[in-house]
Amino acid sequence: MLNKKTVDDIDVKGKKVLVRCDFNVPVMDGVITDDNRITAAVPTIKKLISQGGKVILCSHMGKPKGEVKKELSLAPVAKRLSEILGKEVVFAPDDNVVGENAKKAVQNMSDGDIVLLENTRFRKEETKNEDSFSRELASLAEVFVNDAFGTSHRAHCSTVGVTKYVPVSVVGYLMEKEIEYLGNAVENPVRPFAAILGGAKVADKINVINNLLDKVDILIIGGGMAYTFIKAQGYSVGNSLLDSERVDYAGEMMKKAEEKGVKLLLPVDTVIVREFKNDTEFRTVPVNEIPDGWEGVDIGEKTRELFADALKEAKTVVWNGPMGVFEFENFAAGTKAIAKAMADIDGTTIIGGGDSAAAVNQLGFGEKMSHISTGGGASLEFLEGKELPGVAAVNDK
Ligand code: AMP
Repeated sequence: MLNKKTVDDIDVKGKKVLVRCDFNVPVMDGVITDDNRITAAVPTIKKLISQGGKVILCSHMGKPKGEVKKELSLAPVAKRLSEILGKEVVFAPDDNVVGENAKKAVQNMSDGDIVLLENTRFRKEETKNEDSFSRELASLAEVFVNDAFGTSHRAHCSTVGVTKYVPVSVVGYLMEKEIEYLGNAVENPVRPFAAILGGAKVADKINVINNLLDKVDILIIGGGMAYTFIKAQGYSVGNSLLDSERVDYAGEMMKKAEEKGVKLLLPVDTVIVREFKNDTEFRTVPVNEIPDGWEGVDIGEKTRELFADALKEAKTVVWNGPMGVFEFENFAAGTKAIAKAMADIDGTTIIGGGDSAAAVNQLGFGEKMSHISTGGGASLEFLEGKELPGVAAVNDK
């Protein structure tokens, strides 16, 4: 159970409430191409306005690195959110985020009104968690709600610093839901508990394995992650993704799995290409026969079967990272096979955000999952057993 105060523990009638959301959505030519993160924030916003709070929303978008970048303005988010809520969301277009527009808009608020501030990362202090900007944000409100799970692994002004200067800080419904799902999976799973790791950010993800091996019954490793393990098995991986500094560590993890009785599954075959593109010659080989000059881009058919079979018995599954380069249609089959195997499971299925969430949605399996996290990096740090600073900073129950 989450031991933090939530929006259910406070009464915000007539109060100014600053809500940190994760509106970091993809925008192309001013149009939002995926609004999942906006809809995910709606339950908290609705709860606060229905109680008569004056709701001031803030978020970052992209990485403007302390500079004003018009293409990363939150203006399109205000528009989209207002369509979703069927209610005006007043946008405060201040380059310095808490400027004249924001102050005036907040002054003019009636109970139940909504204001959205500009991209918090237009301020260079934001990612450094510097007091000056934290104080400015806090000066707008009497209550702070952190509902930005996707940024909860970062100690920034708008996630952590602001809590020092606002009398009351709580988490929102999205944050609560994310932590409940991930927390239950990790700490109190219905067994067998399986984790699937893939993707390309090997250095970021490989550390999670050590912690997961203390928790899971089955650990499946595919995608770009797998080749470091294949190398540790003594095979050559050609041009495949490899974290050469962590080959020994991969070997240690294989040993740890054995000692702990965790079923560690690695690919037995892989789809290989000579050129990294969709329309190219490809074939499937056993993992101990990857020729020089070739690169592994997906798990092979035998591996798909092996992984899907192992998942049949699982009652809790957490998945982070695609099994292959799913953006290329020819190499999406491995990821699709895992998505399908997860969709067929009679148990709790959790997608750990980022590219796996995109893959599952793109392949049409989104509806079949118990929970798709809005935070890739945050869910990974959670699985690594790290404390999330954005959660730690809010008031205890
Ligand atoms: P991540 O952000 O770590 O989840 O990585 C996601 C990316 O991993 C996707 O863009 C995939 O195309 C990529 N990926 C998955 N498998 C491989 C592979 N075998 N080789 C290179 N990239 C891969």
